[in-house]
Amino acid sequence: MQAETKKIIQESLDALLENDLFLPDLTNRKQAFASLSAILSTPDKIHKSFLRVPLDDGSVVRIPSYRAQHNDAMGPYKGGIRFHESVNEEEVINLAFLMTLKNALHKVPFGGGKGGIVINPREYSEKELNLISRKYVSYFADVIGPDKDIPAPDMGSGEREMDWMMAEYKLVHPGTSYLGSFTGKSVVNGGSLGRREATGKGVYFTFRYLLHDYVKANKQLLTKSDNLFAKTTLELYNRPLKMAVQGFGNVGSVAALEAYHCHLINHKIIAVSDRNVTLYNENGLDIPALIEFTKTNRGDLPSTEEQLQSATIKAEIKERDCLVTLPVDVLLLAALENQIQKDNMKDVQARIIIEGANAPTAPEADQYLSEQGVVIIPDILANAGGVIVSYFEWLQGRETQFYDEAEVYRLLIDKMKETMDMILPQYYGDPFALRQNCFIHAVTRLSTVLYRQGKLY
Ligand code: GLU
Repeated sequence: MQAETKKIIQESLDALLENDLFLPDLTNRKQAFASLSAILSTPDKIHKSFLRVPLDDGSVVRIPSYRAQHNDAMGPYKGGIRFHESVNEEEVINLAFLMTLKNALHKVPFGGGKGGIVINPREYSEKELNLISRKYVSYFADVIGPDKDIPAPDMGSGEREMDWMMAEYKLVHPGTSYLGSFTGKSVVNGGSLGRREATGKGVYFTFRYLLHDYVKANKQLLTKSDNLFAKTTLELYNRPLKMAVQGFGNVGSVAALEAYHCHLINHKIIAVSDRNVTLYNENGLDIPALIEFTKTNRGDLPSTEEQLQSATIKAEIKERDCLVTLPVDVLLLAALENQIQKDNMKDVQARIIIEGANAPTAPEADQYLSEQGVVIIPDILANAGGVIVSYFEWLQGRETQFYDEAEVYRLLIDKMKETMDMILPQYYGDPFALRQNCFIHAVTRLSTVLYRQGKLY
């Protein structure tokens, strides 16, 4: 596990102890605390393999692939499978750890896991991707399953891959129930309505709730508070805001569309970026038109004047990486990890950062920006919509009874609202940043469960 992640764990644990939140009734607290610290900073298991896959040109590749199972105290391991060329063992372990905390925070009865396949999916044909997905399942067949470890999509994978993977699971385990083996499947194949949009919608909801609904209901309380973050929130409440969105995939584009259609907050999206380009328009970008364009351009935003013209989209083309330091009030990060770090943290102008991606703010930048009163809505709080609806998908698959889309959305919002209502009062009442608060809640819950299961001694 990365040293930085270990540092975050240690800080949260220290905060638990200092605030008497860690199993206050226990006699042997010191030892139990050491056990908890060891459990959090080491995954239960890490499985790795080389997938040997024949390609269309007759050659055979060996593709490194992983499944990290961080902790299953709260339920079967759960987390996506990332298809990306930068995937590595340490990253998968860190992401699995975040899943443990994410599920504990939102009271989703799963543990934490994460998978990874080291490929750039754009370089493979559909047939090759099908083979890669199936091989992954056959290689890891013994360690996954509806009551063991339930994978889902992550960066570079989606419904198509989950459908293929579940089909392979069914072949390897004939006669067993299989609908709960993978989530994020297509609806026709046992997936849940609303799963595809769940992460992006949930991400936007956390922002709307923090900046609008909660402030509206608690304005007096916040006005009295001398908390730095309460001040920032009040400063931005009911003011025209500029927003920039990094990443225009399944999370960024859906969250941007939610923002575009939400009139409770007076904001416009003045910039979006993807792996090629940043598009900028002071007067606000036409998000629906951009989404339409990506559908016919392999998911990419327009990146030339001709493309912008043909789609009648008004925007200025800027260099990809300039987005995070643009003069905006709100930054929604929905691309990769470590997008704000030591080198660019001082140039960030936004006062609210929403983490749609996992770990997009490096710990050093997180600390620096928090000290400046920047409100950072952390990944485990903001982007849990995907795994929450995965849980509903898993339930629906088990019951073979399916909910309509409005019901799924209602359940999702109820769950996220419950978590926000648990976190926000404390957040505005103590000096911890939102991330620490979320960690403390998640770890408190997890440590109580671990203790009850006799695993802390
Ligand atoms: N990959 C998503 C995440 O990082 C979803 C995981 C899931 O649905 O299990 O939260």
